[in-house]
Amino acid sequence: MKNNMTVNNDINFNPVRFRHHLHRYPELSLQEHKTASEITDQLLTFGFEPKTNIGGYGILVEIKSGNPGPITLLRADFDALPITEKSQHDHVSRNHGCMHACGHDGHVASLLAVANQLSQTPPQSGTVFLLFQPAEEIGVGAKKMLQDPRLKGIQPDAVYAYHNLPGYPLGTVVVKDGVFACASTGVMITLIGKTSHAAKPENGHSPAPAVARLMDYLHHMPEAFKEAFSLVTLVHVNVGNKGFGTSPGRAEVMATIRSSDNYILNYMKRNLLDFAQKQADCYQLEMQIEWIEPFNATMNNPETTKNVITAAQSLNYDVVIPTEPMRWSEDMGEFLQQWPGTLFCIGSGTDHPELHNPDYDFPDALIEQSSRLFLQLIAQSHN
Ligand SMILES: [Zn+2]
Ligand SMILES: [Zn+2]
Repeated sequence: MKNNMTVNNDINFNPVRFRHHLHRYPELSLQEHKTASEITDQLLTFGFEPKTNIGGYGILVEIKSGNPGPITLLRADFDALPITEKSQHDHVSRNHGCMHACGHDGHVASLLAVANQLSQTPPQSGTVFLLFQPAEEIGVGAKKMLQDPRLKGIQPDAVYAYHNLPGYPLGTVVVKDGVFACASTGVMITLIGKTSHAAKPENGHSPAPAVARLMDYLHHMPEAFKEAFSLVTLVHVNVGNKGFGTSPGRAEVMATIRSSDNYILNYMKRNLLDFAQKQADCYQLEMQIEWIEPFNATMNNPETTKNVITAAQSLNYDVVIPTEPMRWSEDMGEFLQQWPGTLFCIGSGTDHPELHNPDYDFPDALIEQSSRLFLQLIAQSHN
């Protein structure tokens, strides 16, 4: 909570410098304790009293106007990825094998720039919450935060977050109502049979034919679901060991399944489970199936989406309304199951390296652009 009497606007706060610092020292999902304490320290410097360790390393700041009015929540994510950075700039990752390849360092810097501004000019009505979320990349951070009693007690009227988006012109706002980002899940199917001498395969139970059928099934699975965007990507297959003398006794098949519809995703999961079990029975194998990193679809509310478009236009930002949802998934979808709100994107540049690539780096110009948009959204409903 922030008392209106104390004005602690930190004139020394440089969000670009802060972003570069986070970029040098990225931390993987669920291990972001240093990142969280850096954010907390900065919020304390602004004069706020952040609540910490919410559902892991989550952070929440409440900024009360003292007057009745709406409740708005702005969210940024702050975890990094297990990718080795390949760049020459001076803020290249010092934590080998880990990097901010999704720009969450930039999302944090943007929200801290908003915090700095609000510490000086708080909203005139209602309450603004700033939420910093860990473990976005593995789809567990939002759920864990929502389970914390300190979040259960709040009921925002509008929730906003943004993601930077390579492939669109720098600064262009990309937003649509309804499904904005797909539901998805990873799946790992393990088939356990029995090894045997390669000269006597009939004495064992090889999972190879079942794997071949599964690969074919996964490849064709989306064809049955024309009513919504659906996609299956086979990501890894492993059968037996690299030796010519042994018929395999174990296999793993991994795939990522996506759909713009939560129900269709669940339907695909059920069908896959049935098919995999049938193959296992047919070839006398034991089958284990594991669903990994599940995300709900991100559903944008029409009203809050209109607010984003209005705010962007009043700042003369270009707005693009895509016809299709984003193929990727976002943990913001979890918050939007509970609360009305909008996830939008801001273009990172048409030729910018893709997200999750080793040469990616968040474009610093977006920090000011996005924080101005957040502040405009607050001004629209709180001033
Ligand atoms: Zn990502
Ligand atoms: Zn991301």
